[in-house]
Amino acid sequence: MLKTGHSVTRPGRRLGDKPVNIPVPEELETAPGIVQNPQEVDFYSREYPLESQAVEYTADREWAWTVYTTEDWEDRRINDAMSRPIVQAAHNTGDIEPTVEPDFGKDVTELIRAKAREMGFGEVGFTRYDRRYVYKFKRDWSKFPNAICLAYEQDFEPTQSAPSREAEGPHYAIYRIMGALALDLADYIRSLGYHAQVHNPLSNSAVMIPMFDEAGLGQLGANGQLLSPHFGSRARLMMITPDAEVAYDEPVDYGIHAFCNICQVCVNRCPARALMRDKVWWRGAEKHKLIYRRCRPVMTRYEGCAVCMKTCPIQRYGMESVMSHYASTGQVLGKGTHLLEGYNLRDMGYFGPGELPRFASDFFHVPHGKAEDVLFEDLKEKIKNEAIPEGPEGDQMLRDFVGEVHKFVIVNPAEMVSLPSGTEVEEA
Ligand code: SF4
Ligand code: SF4
Repeated sequence: MLKTGHSVTRPGRRLGDKPVNIPVPEELETAPGIVQNPQEVDFYSREYPLESQAVEYTADREWAWTVYTTEDWEDRRINDAMSRPIVQAAHNTGDIEPTVEPDFGKDVTELIRAKAREMGFGEVGFTRYDRRYVYKFKRDWSKFPNAICLAYEQDFEPTQSAPSREAEGPHYAIYRIMGALALDLADYIRSLGYHAQVHNPLSNSAVMIPMFDEAGLGQLGANGQLLSPHFGSRARLMMITPDAEVAYDEPVDYGIHAFCNICQVCVNRCPARALMRDKVWWRGAEKHKLIYRRCRPVMTRYEGCAVCMKTCPIQRYGMESVMSHYASTGQVLGKGTHLLEGYNLRDMGYFGPGELPRFASDFFHVPHGKAEDVLFEDLKEKIKNEAIPEGPEGDQMLRDFVGEVHKFVIVNPAEMVSLPSGTEVEEA
């Protein structure tokens, strides 16, 4: 039996459930929240500010629509249309006035927490809305100083079949449910006398995981996802920023930073070999960095993939069971079993522990970056090869080029809906 360093007590999974007690062995203790160098985080946010994937990777997104299966394409089109009104409603929430005068001096933190739990959010925490993680295109949009971090549990059963349409479907629905609940919660905050801005994850304003870490709702795993105490990486994330004065929660050391070094199940099971075995320092934080260029081709072609979510023992068994098992046996619960590690890839069959698919090298050759940059490169090639003739035909080609570029550079943030795939990885 390993010596317990400290224990973490968290509220039960659902409202009314008994609290859980997570033992963290002494050998897994590192630091609460994120291991980071704050000066470096400051430096990178100032000199190299973050930008949303929806802005930076438009070429990949255009490409993705050309390779989805017919069913996936249709699922996405329908879900995109259904989500759009909720995202647009969230976009305008910062301008809505409170309905009463606030009772200054009254701490509303626990009222909001209780309301959010009653609505079905599995984890609720409070912290500063950390502007170092805000995307450039949302800097002026984001108004208020505090963040309410909200995690909603994605259904257990369908997730275990990832990658599949059965696993991919429910998570779209969860974004709509969460989106609607957050609008209601913001109304409630206004009824207490405060403004409340809803940050819908489909048109996100910031990298959220560092703030969830800071609010004590979990820690970043090697799979690039928040590992929350009850449902690990099945946590779907949403934020509301109010101007109410709230009491901040504290970051917690759940032992994940060290545990992932030992576990490595997601790293071993990733079909794209996109997860790194060792941590690196990245923008001032020590973390496992996902190789996006390898993940994207698999995630796009295989129903959002999410193998790294599905094979994580913490999403399957919960943090209390995983840590207790490790403390008493020194082993990772479920590691090496077909139940935890096995998965099917459409048209390729079943891959059990130790088995990985092989892809042709051109499988990973996909466009990357901004769509307008790809168009400019294409134009440069044509100019170099003298493929733009003098006269009306050449003029038309140039007009077509301007039209194409226009599509990508004039973007209304209220219109931006970015349906994430099964896996929601941290982009910071
Ligand atoms: S979603 Fe990406 S990182 Fe995760 S297992 Fe699939 S390919 Fe790997
Ligand atoms: S599978 Fe293991 S290594 Fe990967 S995130 Fe989960 S606990 Fe960490």
